Amino acid sequence: MDEKITCTSSQSKKRKMDEKITIINDPIWGPIEPHPLCIKIINTPQFQRLRHIKQLGGCSFVYPGACHSRFEHSIGTSHLARLMGEELQKHHYEKITKEEILCLEVAGLCHDLGHGPFSHVFHQQFQAKCKDIKKWTHEDLSIEMVDEIFKSIKLSKEEENDLGKDGKKYIKAFIKPPKDPKDRPIQKPFLYEIIANEENKIDVDKWDYFSRDCHMMGLHHNFQCKRSIKRARIVEDHISFPKSEYFNLFDMFYTRFTLHRKAYKHPVVKAVEMMIAEAFSKADNNLTFPSGCQSLSKSTENMDAYQWMTDDVLQQIRRLELDTDTTTDKHKDVKAAQDIIDRIYCRDLYKLIGEKRVKWDPESIKTLNIADKLIAFADSLKQSEMKIGRIKNDITEILKSDPIPEAKSEIENIATKLTTHVDSLKQSATEVDSLKNDEAEIQKTDLVPEVKPALKNIAQKLTTLVESLKESATKVGSLKNDIAKILKTDLVS
Ligand SMILES: [Zn+2]
Repeated sequence: MDEKITCTSSQSKKRKMDEKITIINDPIWGPIEPHPLCIKIINTPQFQRLRHIKQLGGCSFVYPGACHSRFEHSIGTSHLARLMGEELQKHHYEKITKEEILCLEVAGLCHDLGHGPFSHVFHQQFQAKCKDIKKWTHEDLSIEMVDEIFKSIKLSKEEENDLGKDGKKYIKAFIKPPKDPKDRPIQKPFLYEIIANEENKIDVDKWDYFSRDCHMMGLHHNFQCKRSIKRARIVEDHISFPKSEYFNLFDMFYTRFTLHRKAYKHPVVKAVEMMIAEAFSKADNNLTFPSGCQSLSKSTENMDAYQWMTDDVLQQIRRLELDTDTTTDKHKDVKAAQDIIDRIYCRDLYKLIGEKRVKWDPESIKTLNIADKLIAFADSLKQSEMKIGRIKNDITEILKSDPIPEAKSEIENIATKLTTHVDSLKQSATEVDSLKNDEAEIQKTDLVPEVKPALKNIAQKLTTLVESLKESATKVGSLKNDIAKILKTDLVS
């Protein structure tokens, strides 16, 4: 990368003709021309650190090609985020600004800055073994790193302008969208669906790593992400695709399924990753890092120390000197960690001794039923809100025309409809409450661990729903009052 060429392309005519631009040659997406601010971010130690974190943790022990890093994946994600932003702007010029597109590009670039050694091994397997530490997600740490980077670079006037005054806030929110929409710095839901889509998991982060991971592991896939980008539109403030895109998106989910089965959750990959996590955990208290950090597990509390957390930690453990006194904990722990790593290198791996298929017993079916019911409620609630909105429009229209006595009966009709809605809203609220209790009961049991996180997610959505339910009820109440007032006056023009 970093090939400097003179800018001649028409697409860059805004920049001066003699300005040097940087082209990055990406094996997946071809030549990429990042915004100069992105180049500035790439050329920081915090970003360069990603060169030393393998994208796929232990996968290279099964697929030798899987040695690509978070570095190139982040550049690829940034590129796709910008393409998506530009495509949306082409069709909805008034809905997305060029500043927002740059924020998306930077957010794509920075979304994985918080990953630790061997990517998910650090957060999902090693941290799970640690007690008394705050469990950060990699997105939380990415946001911390973004702050560190912006503290360390100086933006030119032009870059400040390009980013807009709230740019940094937007970047962080696009990396990890706040759960409550009220906490989001900009009220454009579709912007939060491009890097990390919590709605349906269709986002450019996955699009980059699906293509890249398949390419590096020599696996094939049919999903064409550039096609989906071209077909994306904003409908009712959300990213949407036409029905004809169905098969391509089906291929996307099928690619995801295949990658999980053949690579990410391959039994040998999992064995290697468990061994790495165990070696980390044995050596944890014997590793020191610059900035006075005394252990691997505590490094997440200090971004200066966290900068040193890369796959190199494994080699660092191998280089640790053994305590001469063989009876000390230090000697035992370091020796145990080094033995585990030796076993990985000699391919004396943990063996899979059995698998347990999770049965869909009556209790878990009950769980799923609840989930289904909750989803149905969400739908009916949305419909109620839409109906109420339509009724409000009807009333406004009637009132706009000079109301004559005949209109009275029409308004009375509307009032009846509203009463029905209020009743159905009240009923929904009661049922939603009882479902929440059921959900809480199931959370207490230990039946199907796989379903629990999904259920928790639904419970969170439920809380938001109940809030909106209350709001709807208030809206309906005030509409009813309005109607009552209108009916009291004599509707004569
Ligand atoms: Zn990513």
